[in-house]
Amino acid sequence: MGATGTIDWDKIRADFPLLRRQVHGKPLIYFDSANTGQKPECVIAACDDFYRRHNANVSRAVHQLGSEATEAFEGARRKLAAFLNVRADELVLCSGTTFALNLVAYSWALPRLKASDAILLTRMEHHANIVPWQLIAQRTGATLRVAELRPDGSLDLPALYAAMTPEVKLLAVAHVSNVLGTVNPVAEICRQARARGITTVVDGSQAVPHMPVDIAAIGCDFYAFTGHKLCGPTGTGGLWAKREHLQAMPPFLGGGEMIKEVRFDGTVFNDPPHKFEAGTPNIAGFVGLGAAVDYLSGIGMAAIQAREAALLAHASEELRKIDGLRIFGSAPEKAAVISFAIDGVHSHDLATLLDLEGVAVRSGQHCAHPLLQWLGVGTTCRASLAFYNTHAEVEAFIAALRKVIRLLA
Ligand code: PLP
Repeated sequence: MGATGTIDWDKIRADFPLLRRQVHGKPLIYFDSANTGQKPECVIAACDDFYRRHNANVSRAVHQLGSEATEAFEGARRKLAAFLNVRADELVLCSGTTFALNLVAYSWALPRLKASDAILLTRMEHHANIVPWQLIAQRTGATLRVAELRPDGSLDLPALYAAMTPEVKLLAVAHVSNVLGTVNPVAEICRQARARGITTVVDGSQAVPHMPVDIAAIGCDFYAFTGHKLCGPTGTGGLWAKREHLQAMPPFLGGGEMIKEVRFDGTVFNDPPHKFEAGTPNIAGFVGLGAAVDYLSGIGMAAIQAREAALLAHASEELRKIDGLRIFGSAPEKAAVISFAIDGVHSHDLATLLDLEGVAVRSGQHCAHPLLQWLGVGTTCRASLAFYNTHAEVEAFIAALRKVIRLLA
């Protein structure tokens, strides 16, 4: 399959069993994919098949099942690495972005940063890309610096580059905002940071599921992502890091799998990436994530991006026609995430009534309190779309929203 025009999107939607269900007697309209993505049949089948036919622990047993499980797990690592254009031995498999960013915080930043250093963040970061750095700042005395946004929700790039002074040792930036949908020019941002000797961490949680991502082309030091937003199982994700960092960083957690030899007077650690993978991993989950990557590659990430852009344009156009509705985030480069609020209506009331109409949207602060403070709203509703959504669902969502607004007026 190539361009969107040649793809049968209805057929693709039929791959997702959950999307056939009803809620409150209405067909489900799932517009919460930025929260977690739905899973195609092939992913569910891969996890099921692993448990039925291959279940064993990895890297520990010479028996047949042990080698099958190890091969399936390492196969998933290779698939993910190819999908993101990185080396498999530079890809640490972990429970998701939160773990990945904490790994960088505790293994890379904590031993290096000093009281005279600064960590540069942006206003649009998810708590997972704020709180670990705050904890490290408290432990090291380093300061946090925040790059602000333009009114359209894009990064103020000149201000960001001006903030990259010699004290800044680390820059942590989202590839795509989970609230505004803004797609940040991370390759250029990393180029600017690199020129100033700043180490870069990119939070790719909301990018990897929605567009082709070539980590090598971005040129960052660390790239974190989550598998459950990528049509994969929960409790899966990864951290890509430059080999030199992985070699130099001490392990984050100790235990089985991450060692070569343990004696009471000292331990020889395993080579990266295994050095950072203590304990039994989510083996079936990664087998499922490998299947998800195959599935998405079969459709093509460029086609998925184009499909979601069309759904975003449709939904945004219809939402803009609703009186009193404000959309937060109108950056020129935007993913299919629409945060909105309606004058005089609480977003929880809106989301609760939409749920009764079968529409699942998220309401609240979206794990981005500093951004919501900047937006000047307590909460927003967030409709986040994926390629398995349809234009008919967009129409039905708008009709449901209009009905709910009339009820609440
Ligand atoms: N960063 C962003 C931008 C996110 O949207 C999310 C999840 O919503 C995370 C980080 C955290 O991901 P996880 O909870 O899978 O670790």
